[in-house]
Amino acid sequence: MSEELNKIIAKDPDQKEFHQAVQEVIETVQPVLDRNPEYRHAKIIERLAEPERVVMFRVPWMDDTGTVQVNRGYRIGMSSAIGPYKGGLRFHPSVNLSILKFLAFEQVFKNALTTLPMGGGKGGSDFDPKGKSDNEVMRFCQSFMSELYRHIGPNTDVPAGDIGVGGREIGYLFGQYKRLTNAFDPVLTGKGLDWGGSLIRPEATGYGAVYFAAEMLATRNGSMADKTCLVSGSGNVAQYTVEKILDLGGKAVTLSDSTGFIYDPTGIDRSKLAWVMELKNIRRGRIEEYAEKYPEAVYTKTDATLDYNPLWGIQADCAFPSATQNEINGKDAANLIENGVFVVSEGANMPSTPDAVDLFVDHKILYAPGKAANAGGVAVSGLEMSQNAVRRAWTREKVDRRLQGIMKSIHTSCVDACAEYGEKGNYVAGANIAGFTKVVNAMLDQGLV
Ligand code: NAP
Repeated sequence: MSEELNKIIAKDPDQKEFHQAVQEVIETVQPVLDRNPEYRHAKIIERLAEPERVVMFRVPWMDDTGTVQVNRGYRIGMSSAIGPYKGGLRFHPSVNLSILKFLAFEQVFKNALTTLPMGGGKGGSDFDPKGKSDNEVMRFCQSFMSELYRHIGPNTDVPAGDIGVGGREIGYLFGQYKRLTNAFDPVLTGKGLDWGGSLIRPEATGYGAVYFAAEMLATRNGSMADKTCLVSGSGNVAQYTVEKILDLGGKAVTLSDSTGFIYDPTGIDRSKLAWVMELKNIRRGRIEEYAEKYPEAVYTKTDATLDYNPLWGIQADCAFPSATQNEINGKDAANLIENGVFVVSEGANMPSTPDAVDLFVDHKILYAPGKAANAGGVAVSGLEMSQNAVRRAWTREKVDRRLQGIMKSIHTSCVDACAEYGEKGNYVAGANIAGFTKVVNAMLDQGLV
């Protein structure tokens, strides 16, 4: 283990997810550090791994029974080397500093890969929107923004959504920001179309992950047509991943949530997908209902006693993990490979454990890490910021074309960067090296800050 990583672990020994994200980057950028001794001299790794700032705050709110509830809010500004902090807000009971620091750290390199001027940040709360009424979610969002508003701004920090934060939450957060500041600032992305949002933003992460898979397949003269795909999650990223798989002629056969997964061997077609969107985005129900509605599908309940997820053992060509971190472990990765999967494009952030990543790389499958494959979401957030800055709204076609162009250019950057360092075909090395080099050069230009 490197000396830098030892120090980082010693500082915050409990932050496992953060160490995992940092370790992967440190290991893959060693050849870059060896070739550029000035990076080590400038203590670049230690500086990158220390957030520029962390804000942690109390979020008191009242539930529908009149009972006071108290949650914890966070916002991390990881790096502003190439632009204002940019990254989502996550509302999920598992949220803690380790998870947000890993997400913010990944975001720095991901945003650099998009070629847009965005630094990296992340935030959120241990609040669980599941099972809460709209009024409870609104009161929580208003209380959360009552502290957050003083730390963000169009040129300082521009948050977006993530797990548990979709269009509804962004609306409540924006309304409170506007009331507190007396300004209609473009301070959040993922806004509603009638008040500054961008077309294709909701679709962008899922579409981007499939565009990236198509780019990888093209390197082997393949395409998404007729590919059978495993998709996990059933939220924003998963839904639009399924839509783009259909657009490109493939077939998605699974979806999941935290209570279980469905396997529909006949494929999730457009009408079934529309039903899932209504189930998840409006009725806020469980994926189990899919198998009641469509008897050709089988539902499997999550079994916490298993050391693998049977979803990843289904015969397929491609996998799009789109739920959460560490959802594919070494055993799952082995099952995927054994059952024919040769393309893995990560819609979620860090969904594969380090031993799963090693297996994918060793088997030379087409494996795209989240910081490359799911960068489409933040890229279109960047395009939303551009449209807001000039007070214009672009057409759906224009945004989609830009998104496709950005995913293509991220793919090219990864391919070129890993080849330059003798790791041809290794997208993990490629994404880390390309993102890292851009951020580090900007840091050196700006001096010791
Ligand atoms: P979302 O709309 O809230 O959906 C999350 C989905 O994942 C839900 O189906 C949820 O099931 C499932 N899930 C969440 N935590 C889980 C857990 N611990 N175990 C099992 N299932 C779990 O969120 P999203 O925006 O699609 O985000 C999904 C992933 O994509 C995250 O890793 C996020 O960081 C990443 N991502 C999102 C964006 C974006 O633009 N939204 C951009 C880049 C990356 P339950 O409803 O049962 O919890």
